[in-house]
Amino acid sequence: MIQKKFLCKDLKAAEDAIPQIKSILSEKEHKSALITFYEVGFSFEEVEGIVKQMRDCGFPELLIAGISLTVIAELMPEGTGMLINLILTDEADIEVVTLPCIPGEEDKAAARLKERLDAHSHVRAVELFGSNMSLNTTRFMERAMEGHEDAPLFGTSTIRNLPTKLSVEEGEQVVELEQMGQDFEDNQLAYGDRLLRDGFVAVIFAGKKLKVLANYALGWSPIGRRFTPELGAHPARGETVVKGFNGRPAVDVYKDYLGVYPDSYLISNICEFPFIVDRAGISICLIPIDCTPDGSLYFMMTVRPGEKLRFSFASHDEVLDASLRSLHSMERFQPEALFLTLCGNRINFLKEDAHMEWDGFRTIGPDHALMHGACELFYHKGRGGILNSAHLAIGLREKDDVNMAEYNHPDIEDLRHGRTMPLSDRMSAFLRKITSELQDMAAEARDANNAKSAFLSHMSHEIRTPINAILGMDEMILRESSETDILDYAEDIRSAGNNLLGIVNDVLDFSKIEAGKMSIIPVEYELSSVINDLYNVVWLRARNKGLAVNLDIDPSIPSVLFGDETRLKQVITNLLTNAVKYTEKGKVTLCIKPLAKRGGADRDILLNTCQDGQCPEDTIRLKVSVKDTGIGIRPEDMEKLSEEYQRVEEKRNRTIEGTGLGLNITRELLELMGSRLFVESVYGEGSEFGFEIVQGVLRDEPVGELNGRFRKADHGKYRVRFTAEDARILVVDDTSVNLDVIRNLLKKTRINVDTAASGEEALGLVRANSYDVIFLDHLMPHMDGPETLRRMKELKDNLSAGAPVISLTANAVSGARDEYMKAGFVDYLTKPVNSKKLEDMLFNYIPPEKIRTLSDNDDKNLEETAMLPAWLRECEGIDAAEGLRNCSTEEAYQIVLESFYEVIGENAEEIENYYERGDWENYTIKVHGLKSSAKTIGALDLSEQAAALEKAGLEADEEVIRSNTEKLLADYRALLEKLSPITRISG
Ligand code: ADP
Repeated sequence: MIQKKFLCKDLKAAEDAIPQIKSILSEKEHKSALITFYEVGFSFEEVEGIVKQMRDCGFPELLIAGISLTVIAELMPEGTGMLINLILTDEADIEVVTLPCIPGEEDKAAARLKERLDAHSHVRAVELFGSNMSLNTTRFMERAMEGHEDAPLFGTSTIRNLPTKLSVEEGEQVVELEQMGQDFEDNQLAYGDRLLRDGFVAVIFAGKKLKVLANYALGWSPIGRRFTPELGAHPARGETVVKGFNGRPAVDVYKDYLGVYPDSYLISNICEFPFIVDRAGISICLIPIDCTPDGSLYFMMTVRPGEKLRFSFASHDEVLDASLRSLHSMERFQPEALFLTLCGNRINFLKEDAHMEWDGFRTIGPDHALMHGACELFYHKGRGGILNSAHLAIGLREKDDVNMAEYNHPDIEDLRHGRTMPLSDRMSAFLRKITSELQDMAAEARDANNAKSAFLSHMSHEIRTPINAILGMDEMILRESSETDILDYAEDIRSAGNNLLGIVNDVLDFSKIEAGKMSIIPVEYELSSVINDLYNVVWLRARNKGLAVNLDIDPSIPSVLFGDETRLKQVITNLLTNAVKYTEKGKVTLCIKPLAKRGGADRDILLNTCQDGQCPEDTIRLKVSVKDTGIGIRPEDMEKLSEEYQRVEEKRNRTIEGTGLGLNITRELLELMGSRLFVESVYGEGSEFGFEIVQGVLRDEPVGELNGRFRKADHGKYRVRFTAEDARILVVDDTSVNLDVIRNLLKKTRINVDTAASGEEALGLVRANSYDVIFLDHLMPHMDGPETLRRMKELKDNLSAGAPVISLTANAVSGARDEYMKAGFVDYLTKPVNSKKLEDMLFNYIPPEKIRTLSDNDDKNLEETAMLPAWLRECEGIDAAEGLRNCSTEEAYQIVLESFYEVIGENAEEIENYYERGDWENYTIKVHGLKSSAKTIGALDLSEQAAALEKAGLEADEEVIRSNTEKLLADYRALLEKLSPITRISG
């Protein structure tokens, strides 16, 4: 392989090169012959003319490719000219692929290039010329090189279609592109088999014996904090628009850190401090090409959602060091052809030392092609993209044996001695040292903070175990105790325990986020199911405060989505519970609307949050917001909201429980999901908290009208039709509130309800218990409903093998029934669960012998007693309906109860005394009194016992009296405890 270059200052010099090219072509045997040219300042016609002469020079195998507006450093300061680079190979194949392409069709062009690459068996390198920076070049490169990542792609683009305000500093001389006029812009092209104003030209180098070395040198390194860019949609020019950092216009960051204002000198004032982004282990520098009046910055390079930007800086030495290191490795490689692509920013930065960036390379490849265009294109082993401030060296070689020759190359150390070093170098050395000291200090602080987070997270874990034990035990009390006082206490323990658990979970989440251990796990989920769970979490709290919960869910949103359901629910729950907490009257509204855009750049946002890099092609952007009519937030407090552990208006809110962690977690979770919290609030009127989020679309069918469904399924009142004390059912749902709801709905049926939070747990329970009916939630993590059902059927020791299994689903779309039947369910019940439907279903599936249908009378009893306090209605041993009937009105019943209650102690003692003395006469009178007073209050069993003893007393049947009095007294005295709430009412 040989390489020969011709540096031509003008058209004439270029024409003069042609005979020389001819003679080389005829003298040297070759497999392939290629001319690449890099020109600046020629018109289309001039370029066409030269190329025609090359084509007509009598060597049909000669391939030609080229690009314009690459400033040819070696021709400076003339500013116009052409570098003609001739390559002849011994064995390697070369192919030039011309790919016209307009914005939006990059994928098609990439597919065409990939097809050509696939046709070669040993692709070693690709040189790429792009024209029109409105094209999505990064996407093109990534798609085209799929499967050929081992071959480096390198090259450059024209500046065509970039904002012409741009100024490029060349050494001491400033070239204002604007001044060169529209012609300049119009004469930009890439050249393949024809002139291309829009598209790509690729040169493929392929050959079994061809070897390649690709070096990317930078020299800039990151400094200072990480900024989270707020990205706009893919711009029409360049690849990225950064609208802001931290809610402020992006350009302000230059004011803050460099004292630079967005005037026409912006770019030249900041180019020593490019932004830098770390992607897949390599650093990519970014310098904006334009700044709009609203302070947005435009970049040619790509910034992916979720990527952080930092400032970077470098000293002369470091920049040179990087390219010299590349030189040294290139020396060992000994290329036969060498390409250098380097950024004007380096030349600008190194000024009089800039020549050292290529001088050394001349010693190993005197005829190397050196260019710099609008940017450096580089993609290798799945990394790279559009680069800036970069130095690329690509060497090709066909011969095998390499004799290491001795080269005399400049050493960077030489530069450091025996001269007055530039102030900027000394400043940057100073800055670097201070930065590293600060970094050490920050690292120490971070270590301490990490230790704190680890401690917190450890503690919360440890605390959760005993809390769960306490709650579990408490649950047993709630199920098994019949004593009202105990039940009241247990209820208090449950509520405080759940509260504590919530706080501990928040602390755990927070420390996980701090430690960077929180990850987003997107899954398939049903929107209606999420709404159901959210509604269930919030409606009771809201109702207890007399607040309405409104849903405003757009019916056109697709029903099955892809995203982190758990975290999404957590975020919205936080907002909803806050809204309820900080609202005294009025309503809380959850609103979810689709935003017009679908797919496109949004998909990248979603993709970026998925760890395994898989997500559906179709995406939707939703606007989720929670509005309340609460206390609102004062403008001066708004800023405080984003600080950790901060609560605003502490004094006013002192009675509202909270830790100030909720919004922080919300904010961090949203950031992990590529979103951001917004807050709008009018003090005294209410607040709106919300965010926009991108989710995948798995089923396009709209969710339909949800709002009405929840209104109808208000969990408030219902009439129980039957009881089934001996029936036992299992309900499986991964959301615990849903379990609570069903348990509460069934309380009056006295059905024994077991619950499980996962399919795994359910499998354990069916081995241990025989259930009459099983409800299985459809979508659960790890093991979904159908899967759990399948596994249940496979279990050999399933005690509930015969139990009908009903699917619980939020998916109410038509045709669902057939689907569930096919999966082996006997029926399905939609969420939100309607109490009547639930009861009807249980009535049908619980074995009839276990069901006691309540007569109209029973039913009426329940209706009538509705006004009585719950403890009395549920008080064991008292038939409250009977009592109420006997006393006619609640008030009368209350009075009778009170007087009954007051004399229990005294009366019981009297009965006991007469009994012990054997005074049957008085004994009989007393039990006679008890018989009727007990009947009046509805203590029917006690009344019957007293009646039997009265009879025995009359008959002086001592045996009956002796064997039954103790029980009578015990039951009578037990009422002292059971009726004790009566004192609270009257007192
Ligand atoms: P907390 O646990 O204190 O509620 P958060 O982080 O959830 O903590 O909220 C922080 C503070 O923001 C609250 O203390 C409260 O002052 C304010 N805040 C949150 N939501 C609302 C709302 N809907 N209306 C008014 N103030 C709110």
